Amino acid sequence: MSPMPPSEKTTTTIETCDAVIVGAGFAGLYMLHRLRGLGLSARVYEQGGDVGGTWYWNRYPGARCDVESMQYSYSFSEELQQEWEWSERYAPQPEILKYANHVADRFDLRRDIQLNTRVAAARFDDAENRWSVTTADGKQVSATYFILATGCLSNARIPDLPGLSDFKGKTYHTGHWPHKPVDFTGLRVGVIGTGSSAIQSIPVIAEQAKHLFVFQRTPNFSIPARNAPLTPELTREWKSDYAARRQYARAESRNGILTVIPQKGALEDNDIARRQEYEAGWTRGGISFMAAYNNLLVDKPANDTAADFVRTKIAEIVTDPEVAKLLQPHNHPIGSKRICVDTNYYQTFNRPNVTLVDIRNAPIDTVLPNGLRTGSKDYELDAIVFGTGFDAMTGSVAKIDITGQNEITLNEKWAEGPRTYLGLMSAGFPNMFVITGPGSPSVLSNMIVSIEQHVDWISDCLAHMRARDADRIEATKDAEDKWVIHVNEVAHGTLYPQANSWYMGANIPGKPQIFMPYIGGVAVYRRICDDVAAKGYEGFALSATRQATSVAAE
Ligand code: NAP
Repeated sequence: MSPMPPSEKTTTTIETCDAVIVGAGFAGLYMLHRLRGLGLSARVYEQGGDVGGTWYWNRYPGARCDVESMQYSYSFSEELQQEWEWSERYAPQPEILKYANHVADRFDLRRDIQLNTRVAAARFDDAENRWSVTTADGKQVSATYFILATGCLSNARIPDLPGLSDFKGKTYHTGHWPHKPVDFTGLRVGVIGTGSSAIQSIPVIAEQAKHLFVFQRTPNFSIPARNAPLTPELTREWKSDYAARRQYARAESRNGILTVIPQKGALEDNDIARRQEYEAGWTRGGISFMAAYNNLLVDKPANDTAADFVRTKIAEIVTDPEVAKLLQPHNHPIGSKRICVDTNYYQTFNRPNVTLVDIRNAPIDTVLPNGLRTGSKDYELDAIVFGTGFDAMTGSVAKIDITGQNEITLNEKWAEGPRTYLGLMSAGFPNMFVITGPGSPSVLSNMIVSIEQHVDWISDCLAHMRARDADRIEATKDAEDKWVIHVNEVAHGTLYPQANSWYMGANIPGKPQIFMPYIGGVAVYRRICDDVAAKGYEGFALSATRQATSVAAE
């Protein structure tokens, strides 16, 4: 064994297993299920107090998924997808959390999940071909495989505002919400941020608060969700044809969502036809608004037509023209930041108890003991809600001190931006897999579709290795370099890099600005991954480091 870092010297308990999985969200749960199916032993470490990942933490008022319930769910078990009943078109957070718990119980997953346990470090021992994983409470586990199911939006971020520690009221982050209901009745509340989380929570908080101040730096495009109870007829229709619909979403779509794939560009229609098309999308509601035409995210003049439509809608909904103007986004193409989906977001600014504060022109100077001071004014507040987002895609991985071959840490290797082959592995870190990591479609897709694809690919890969007595897989540097170039090229063929988005790491001061997810689409990406596997895991080096009769035998 290589020497342990000083912080690990006091560890005493050493367990062994085939795989350590970090995180018990949707990725970790399914990964555990598949590894068990292969006869491998696995331990899952989860820092939260229960399973559910993102849905365990994001309990803010109004939290719900922006992918429709019938599609934002596992497809790996026909029984599961037939028996589970969703209540609404877009499931609210408590229902998705209940579903995650149901899955954990139904597949008897809990006995291998250790909750309230943060993985602090992981170190690869080249000679032993094993990962030594250390939890924050000092426990050490030795495993052949180390699998990061840490989620892409798990590292909630509160900006470093001067005076924050002196604030006398309560502070919250949407991504780290308390487990007991928060009552804003009679309070003056400030929400900082106008991303997806804030846009969902603002209308709900406004109904409770005495006064709500929304501190907006960058306005966002938001489409009405048109949420509604799911009718038994619609549910039946989906379930009668579930397998085929799932297959289409995973193998034919761009984003893992069943939508009609547009055949023409926005400028091929005249003004009237285009307006009708957008109007239909606005009335239907949801993120499929961006599927009106096939060139909205690659052609700026085409994109402008959709952006203009939404800006006009904002002006129609919001009664005060000055407020409407402030809410109209102009600094990024529509869809180049994750498009938001709301219920009564713009309407909320017509309420007498809601004030929109522009912090683009007058930024927050300081937090006062009883409020916030922006360049021009003081605002008295009893509570501040940070809807300020996450250190996305790499943030939760970076919090683990991961050391690979030649004593190089993952944070050192990714200092200029994440580098992976297929978003699945990073060269120099053998037997370490990332589920929905940077370099894969992940956050640009229906996450559960992408999670299932990665977990299935990893499981098939491990089965392939076992059949050949291999116990080590690593991405080659050459394959990784080519993939990083490809991911970058594809991104720069679109309008996405024109926005200062978290996709680019632009929301974190000092973070390298690189477009992190793979934008080629889930169907294309799946074919690439399948092709790599069919060619004997091309671009990966597989080897046997010991006289193994089975990878499972420890
Ligand atoms: P976000 O999209 O990163 O939005 C953060 C907001 O906070 C932005 O408006 C940002 O302004 C503002 N902000 C950040 N730092 C600030 C500062 N120092 N001062 C003032 N304003 C600041 O975060 P999010 O809303 O939590 O959403 C993150 C992602 O989570 C979404 O894009 C989506 O993928 C996912 N999500 C999904 C759902 C859903 O399924 N319905 C719901 C919530 C979240 P700037 O734009 O100027 O930086």
